[in-house]
Amino acid sequence: METAARSAEELKLQIKRLENELAVLKSQLAELESREAAPPTSAPDGEEVPWKWPLQADEYDRYGRQLILPSIGIQGQLNLKQSAVLIVGAGGLGCPAAAYLAGAGVGTLGVVDSDVVEASNLHRQIAHSTAHVGMSKVDSLIAYARGLNPLPTYRAHNTHLTPNNAASIVSRYDLVLDCTDHPTSRYLVSDACVLLGKPLVSASALRTDGQLIVLNCPPTAQGVVAAPPADGGPPPPPGPPCYRCVFPRPPPPDAVTSCGEGGILGPVVGVMGVLQALEAIRIIAAGRHRPADAEGGSGQHQQQQQPTLLLLSAGGQSPATFRSVRMRGRRKDCFACGEGSTLTLETLASGSLDYVAFCGGAAAPVDVLADGERVGPREYQARTQDGKRHLLLDVREKEHFDIASISGAINVPFSKMQSYGGGGQEKQTEVPRPEWIPGDLPDDAPIYVVCRVGNDSQLVTKQLKEMGLDRNGKRFVGDIRGGMRAWKRDVDNTLPFM
Ligand SMILES: [Zn+2]
Repeated sequence: METAARSAEELKLQIKRLENELAVLKSQLAELESREAAPPTSAPDGEEVPWKWPLQADEYDRYGRQLILPSIGIQGQLNLKQSAVLIVGAGGLGCPAAAYLAGAGVGTLGVVDSDVVEASNLHRQIAHSTAHVGMSKVDSLIAYARGLNPLPTYRAHNTHLTPNNAASIVSRYDLVLDCTDHPTSRYLVSDACVLLGKPLVSASALRTDGQLIVLNCPPTAQGVVAAPPADGGPPPPPGPPCYRCVFPRPPPPDAVTSCGEGGILGPVVGVMGVLQALEAIRIIAAGRHRPADAEGGSGQHQQQQQPTLLLLSAGGQSPATFRSVRMRGRRKDCFACGEGSTLTLETLASGSLDYVAFCGGAAAPVDVLADGERVGPREYQARTQDGKRHLLLDVREKEHFDIASISGAINVPFSKMQSYGGGGQEKQTEVPRPEWIPGDLPDDAPIYVVCRVGNDSQLVTKQLKEMGLDRNGKRFVGDIRGGMRAWKRDVDNTLPFM
């Protein structure tokens, strides 16, 4: 019965998907037919006259509300129409950014991503839908944007941006939005933008905080740190910063938390994506996306604006706040854009720059315990089913623990555990008993430690031994290999997460 119900669900989903795609195709067809059916512009005597306005009739209708703004105007709208914008990452930032850029009438919108839509994306990646689960994110986002506005040209890059393909993709655009969620991509996107002279609007969001910064704008040649000093005037600005100027060193790998681990509030990432679109529209409408010295370039707009980092905080009980922090301009010694930089498109494409290694590698699995100090999920189950006293310490953060845990476990989050010390110190002989150890726990009762995937649990096991809790080997202290993820896989597949 269950199998039949499941396949019925799958069929329903498939039908929904096909209906969705059909609706998109129908809207494209209707749009095309309506354009073909439009009567030719004719003078009262029936003679055809050439269309004499810079935009088409339907564009005046569609963009009328923004056209009349002083900051856009007809020239701003034409700038948008002639521009090509690249969105790197079709997720929580990329979805709202693409929607507003498509709506505003950019001429070409490209999207790069290699992921497929998952159900866990939908609370924040608003262009994707339940019917699109399993579909490529790029195709899903473009279908959504096209439904919103069929006039722009859409380009799908169903791939991961790599040092090898970055230049050939980025070079086809005038401005780039970094909507990725990992430092490795941020440095790569920024380097490509410096080398190819593209402004970059970079944003990130994690948990309840977001940040936004506009980089390399107006695009300025690599190595140009300050314009020639004006006669007796104030010192010239040092040129616009790139991502490396603002963050010369990546965060330590174990400080990098992805949305999957750290969590993310949908509207926070949504706001940041909308702000990226806003900055991109403002830059393009004003012509500031063109190199400062380019013909037809930004003219009076060439004056560089003070770079600022915009921070959104929406945690705690107080109302959400925005803060703006003034940033320094281009750094003389910047690896990518500073004086004497040796970064070239060739070195980028050659793959000699290892972005993953620069960012400390993919968070390497922790391996600090010997085999005898680790038990698999099934072994833990076998060892403890006789009902003898033991302590199971779950060191995940409270929010994870509250969702689901192994029966009998007590929760002391890893972050709190750090405050007990022990790590790296000499083994202590007399240790005050931590308050989370039940007072009646026998001295020889084993202690097992479990976390999400089996990394933090090893560090805590080591720490507990350094604190002397293994009573010089008289008590077993060890971790559950593979953490709760392995527990779900091997023992209890009803766990509703991971
Ligand atoms: Zn730089």
